[in-house]
Order: sequence, then structure tokens, then C-alpha cells
Amino acid sequence: MSGPQIPFPQSPIVPAMVEASHEIRFQCRRGIDCWNACCSNIDITLTPYDVVRLKRRLGLSSTQFLRDYTVPYEMEKDGIAGVKFRPVDGGTACRFMGAEGCGVYSDRPTACRYYPVALLSMRKQDEATDRDSYALVKEDHCHGHLEPRTISIAAYREEQGLPEYDELARGWRQLVLKKKSSGPSLGAPSLRSRQLFFMACYDIDVFREFVAAESFQSVFALTDEEQRSFADDVALLQFAFRFLKQVLFGEQTIPLKEEAAKARQEALKARRMEEEREAAARVLNEEEGSADGADEGFDD
Ligand code: SF4
Ligand code: SF4
Repeated sequence: MSGPQIPFPQSPIVPAMVEASHEIRFQCRRGIDCWNACCSNIDITLTPYDVVRLKRRLGLSSTQFLRDYTVPYEMEKDGIAGVKFRPVDGGTACRFMGAEGCGVYSDRPTACRYYPVALLSMRKQDEATDRDSYALVKEDHCHGHLEPRTISIAAYREEQGLPEYDELARGWRQLVLKKKSSGPSLGAPSLRSRQLFFMACYDIDVFREFVAAESFQSVFALTDEEQRSFADDVALLQFAFRFLKQVLFGEQTIPLKEEAAKARQEALKARRMEEEREAAARVLNEEEGSADGADEGFDD
């Protein structure tokens, strides 16, 4: 039986899955005796929207931000890549941790907003859409669980500004889930597909140049409104997710220009004919093989 597909590595603490209505007892507040303990030993996966928020906050290009503040990792063997925060040199603490707390608080990443809740986007292999469940992560160093406040996960998500963060990274989660749930049937993505995934999801400023290039513009039919919207990182990111559905899964999410569509149809037709030729040659070889065997058997 196939299990749920969970896109991100789980914490060593095995979580019990709960729904958004589930109430947790938790509060993080300035002055608590574990202040900053959670930010002293980090393992934070960034969503593409996190990257956009942080690179804007720091006034960097996406390329500079990725180089200086992140490390890439493989979400699965030979699979697509993710990025994590790079901790301080020679240590495990977050580079934005300060005595006053988080130095990028209003742009802090999704994982920091969720803590101590974890989002588990899942898709069962027999389901067409993904579902969100949650898990509570209880670590000894975090004393927020001892505070006298109960709150539903739904209300906690609102409090932490998460609906916007989740919505703007949904396309990325869907790509990761789809890749995982299609498993070996799709095979490992080519190096080129993995590079495109990394660029389109994380290095948005390079993706903008890629989209503006003649080689892209001559293939894809984009409206003027779409082209104008690409000045905005968030709009471009949503387009990037559409583009990747086409690249990774062959879905027709972006219309092709007439010439390119014709060329694509010709290429498909040629490929189909080649496959038919190969299949016919295989049948012929098998028939010849068995005829040879028959000749041997009846030789006198
Ligand atoms: S970004 Fe802020 S909240 Fe997140 S680990 Fe760093 S200091 Fe802590
Ligand atoms: S209560 Fe938990 S989340 Fe808040 S500072 Fe302490 S360890 Fe971090």
C-alpha cells in the first residue's frame, strides 16, 4: 500500500499529524528563559518565497543571497534541490540571531514562523490534490510549551502571517510533491531540468533574464500584461512554477508560439514515427530469430 508523500525531511522527533483545528499550548515571548535557544542550532529549509522576501530585505540579488546565506541540498537522491540557511561560520546558530531576537523578524522564513508546528503537505499516490496536515515538534530546550496559552493551529498560522507565505509557495510544494509521488515512473530529472528547477525556484533574478532572452521569447507566447508583471519577483515566481510544470511534467501550462508549436508537433510526430520504426524492427528481428530456429530444427 502506498503511503503519504511528505516532501521535506522530518525532524528526528516523530510527529503525530493533526488538523488545523487542533489546539496547542504554546507561546513564545521576549523574556522567556529559553530566548533564542531555537535559533542557536538551525536546520531551516527555505521556500522560494522565503528567498524572495529575504533577498529584498537584505537588498541583495537572488544570486548574492544564495551564495552568501544558503547551502543547497538534495531533497532526494538524484532529485531536485532545495536550499537551507547557512549558519554562522564554524557554528550552528542563525546569522540573523541577535540579543534582541530575530534580525529579519518581519521577513523571517516559513519554518521560523511555523515553529513549533511543522507543515506536512502530503499527496497520496491515488489522490490528485495535496492536503495540509500539521505536527507539533516538542524539543526540551523550548519552554514555550509551558506557557499558559492555548491556541488552534489555524489561529497560530494567522498570527504568524503564514497564509500568505503558504499560498505564495504552494506552486513549489506541488512541484516537489508531484515529483516525489510520480517516483521512478518519471525517472530522475535530467541535469538541465534540475538546473532549471533551481534557477526558476530560487535564483529569481537570473530567471528574469532567462525569460527575457530571445531564445525564451521566440518559443513561449506571453501576453504584454504577463511580461510587465515579471518586474515583480512574486508574480515572476508564480510564472516560474507554471513553467516548471511544463519542463518537468510536460503539462501545457504556457502556450507556445505558432512556429514553436508547429516545430514541437513535428518533433513529436518524428519521435512517434521513430518509435514505430523501432518497434517494427524489433518484431521483424524476433520473427527472423524464430524462423532461423525453425530452419535449424527442420534441416536435413
Ligand atoms: S531567521 Fe530569525 S527566527 Fe529564523 S532562525 Fe534566524 S534568527 Fe531565528
Ligand atoms: S519559546 Fe521556543 S521558540 Fe520561543 S525563544 Fe524559546 S525556544 Fe525559541
